[in-house]
Amino acid sequence: MTDIKSLSRAELAALVAELGEPSFRAKQIFTWLQKGVEGFDEMTNLSKPLRRKLEERCTLSVPVVERRQVSRLDGTIKYLWRLADGNCIETVIMRYKHGNTICVSSEVGCLMGCAFCASTVGGLVRRLTPAEILDQVIFSQKDSGLKISNIVLMGIGEPMDNLDAVLRFLELVNDPEGLNIGMRHISLSTCGIVPGIQRLGGLDLQLTLSVSLHAPDNETRNRLMPVNRAYPVEELFAACHWYFQETGRRISFEYAMIDGVNDHDWQADLIVKQLKGMPGHVNLIPLNDVRESPLKPSKRVAAFQKRLERQGVTATVRRKLGGDIDASCGQLRRKTMGLEE
Ligand code: SAH
Repeated sequence: MTDIKSLSRAELAALVAELGEPSFRAKQIFTWLQKGVEGFDEMTNLSKPLRRKLEERCTLSVPVVERRQVSRLDGTIKYLWRLADGNCIETVIMRYKHGNTICVSSEVGCLMGCAFCASTVGGLVRRLTPAEILDQVIFSQKDSGLKISNIVLMGIGEPMDNLDAVLRFLELVNDPEGLNIGMRHISLSTCGIVPGIQRLGGLDLQLTLSVSLHAPDNETRNRLMPVNRAYPVEELFAACHWYFQETGRRISFEYAMIDGVNDHDWQADLIVKQLKGMPGHVNLIPLNDVRESPLKPSKRVAAFQKRLERQGVTATVRRKLGGDIDASCGQLRRKTMGLEE
C-alpha cells in the first residue's frame, strides 16, 4: 500500500499515470489531500472507479483527536492525536499577535535522552511519516478553524533523526498549491546532530535553524545531553559557524536555565566566545519543572541575559504559554500513555 499523502508531487503524478488517468487528476488529488479529507469518497470531482482504485492502492492517514486542551490564560491549544497504529503525538498551537504558530512532533518518543526533557521518557517508539507530520498542521487547522502562519519543529522527537521524512514534509507544506507556508516562517530545532546540520546547510533552505545548546562546556553538556558525547561542543560550534557561512542565516540557540548547572557567569562568557564571528541569538527558557527530576529552574535568568547582551550577544527570555495545560514537550503524551504515575 502507498501512503498517498507522503508522496511528492512527482511521485503522485507517476501514480496517476500508472492508474491510466489524465495528469490533471494529480493536482485534484493533491488539493483534496491538503484539505484533510477523511476518505477517498470525499474527493467528489473524481470518478467513482478512480476513488475505488485509490482505495485499493493507497492508505490515507487520518489522525483522531484523543484530547484537546485550551489554555484559559492565553488561548494556547494542545492536541493529543491518535495515529492509525494507536500511538499518540502532541501538537501545540500558540497564538501570537503576528499570527498562529504550530509546534509539531517529528517522532513518537525520542532517542536522545536529554536529562530535562519529558519527551524522551520511554525512548523512541518510531519515526513519523511525512504525512503524519503534515497532518498535524492540516488537521489542527481544520479542527480549530485557525489559520496557521508559522511552524516550529519543536515538538516530540529529534527532526535530524528523521531527516528524510522532515525534508519531504517541508517540501509538501511549502507547496503553493498546498498549505503554502514559506520557509522563512519555519524553524527546525535540533539537539545538535552535526551530520544533520551539515546536510541541511547544503540544501540552503530559507528556514531558521535552532540548536538546543543548554550548556557551552562539554562537562555540563555531557551530563544534560547524551548526544554531546557523539558531537562535542567544539564540533557542534564548528558546524554552526560553517552553516552560517554557507547559508547566511542566523542560528538561534535554545538554552533552558537550570539552577546551579548552566547558569554561571563563566558559562555566559563561554557562549560569547563560541559565537564570535557569527550573529547568533540566544533564547533563554525558564526550565519547565519535570517531575521527579533533581533539576530546578534557575533564578539567574535576568542576570545571565544581561551578561550576554553586554558582550554583544542578543538574548531573549522566552515567554511561557499554556502553563495550565501541560503544553510543554512530551508532558501530555506522558500522562495519557501512562508513562507517568
Ligand atoms: N529534539 C529537538 C526538537 C525538540 S525542541 C531539540 O532538541 O531541539 C524542544 C525544545 O524544548 C528543545 O530545545 C529542548 O531542549 C527544550 N526542552 C525540553 N525539555 C525542557 C524543559 N523541561 N524545560 C525547558 N526546555 C525544555
